[in-house]
Amino acid sequence: MFFGGGFDGFPGGFPGGAGRGSQKVDNTSLYKVLGLESNASDSEIKKAYKKLAIKHHPDKGGDEATFKEITRAYEILSDENKRKLYDEGGEEAVESGGGGGDAHDIFSAFFGGGGRRQRGPQKGEDLVHPIQVDLENLYNGKTVKLALTRDIICTACNGSGSKNPNANTTCQSCDGHGVKLVVRQIAPGMIQQMQARCPDCEGSGTSIKPKDKCTECSGKKTTKEKKVLEVQIDKGMKHNQKITFAGEADQKPGMLPGDVVFVVQQKEHPKFIRKGDDLLMQQRIKLVEALCGCHFVVEHLDKRKLIVKTKEGELIRPGDVKTIEDEGMPMHKNPFVKGKLYVKFEIEFPENGSIAPEDVKALIGALPPAQGVPPHNEAEEVVMHDADIQNLGKGTGHGRSGAYDEDDDEDMRGGQRVQCAHQ
Ligand SMILES: [Zn+2]
Ligand SMILES: [Zn+2]
Repeated sequence: MFFGGGFDGFPGGFPGGAGRGSQKVDNTSLYKVLGLESNASDSEIKKAYKKLAIKHHPDKGGDEATFKEITRAYEILSDENKRKLYDEGGEEAVESGGGGGDAHDIFSAFFGGGGRRQRGPQKGEDLVHPIQVDLENLYNGKTVKLALTRDIICTACNGSGSKNPNANTTCQSCDGHGVKLVVRQIAPGMIQQMQARCPDCEGSGTSIKPKDKCTECSGKKTTKEKKVLEVQIDKGMKHNQKITFAGEADQKPGMLPGDVVFVVQQKEHPKFIRKGDDLLMQQRIKLVEALCGCHFVVEHLDKRKLIVKTKEGELIRPGDVKTIEDEGMPMHKNPFVKGKLYVKFEIEFPENGSIAPEDVKALIGALPPAQGVPPHNEAEEVVMHDADIQNLGKGTGHGRSGAYDEDDDEDMRGGQRVQCAHQ
């Protein structure tokens, strides 16, 4: 029996149906939604749905929520298994026996409308797998072979799990529903009953006697298969872009297999940073190159060597950014169109004291004149130290170690001063 009685030893129960007894289960609402009695025939259910669905369809100005309610009622009551579950255990029983479909899909399936997915077997879970890809491979494109092990329907028993096609495979424990009513005592005198997956058949509703089990799959209905997928990394694919192999995930009897979905994970590159279809690189040049012209070679992601030169008389200032057209990433699906390559310059200055005094003179002669120092009568001459901008605001003494050992003495004096003030 699906809903067992015999809880007489437990008084009380939960208000709202969580308590004892099957009489509290609501198994009439869905019929009422369609304006029917619980003993309505299949054709009455169909007729009622047809009338109401047309009337309440959102495209005809109906209310979406009402339309969904009607469709949900129809979805359950028009399905022999679901209706049986509902009649015995209410909506809760239907839910634990497998989720609901999309209202619009069900409507389309009923009226034969095109466009949307026809109602059919449920689709299994997608297998989502990240795939690490070098920037080089996203630039040039590449085919990667990946082996995957998946469940396929056993060919020996066609997914029945039984070698004897006439064997009774209905799970005796749950009567083929895949779900069972479980009673739990949650407090003395209080019990809760809930739907749970049948532990004997693991929710499949079928169980096969040992003597009938398929020898190929040992009654599991599926066997393992190793398959190699060729994953095509297209030029210009982006981080998190998905590559889908429809229906290549695990197969399960009575279900459409899910998809295998690879998600591109772009690896970091030591030289180039990608932003959309553009690339950015840093180029360190010497001061002499910044002033007198620079000339360097960039090896690109396809190993081509680009010769980059400044124009005659062009100076590069610290932090300057330049772009090179058509040397960014190829555009996905249109790889002849490319983004830009941005080059950000860093300038390396000579070491202190590395310019000889006579060269300094030559430089002074070559460069625009320095700022003149205005007349100063009452000015003081000061000394500059090397510093870290992080220490800005930290005030006197702190952050300067070694050279100023009186720091401690100062603190002590400060302490004494405070003592004096107290006395
Ligand atoms: Zn088999
Ligand atoms: Zn079972």
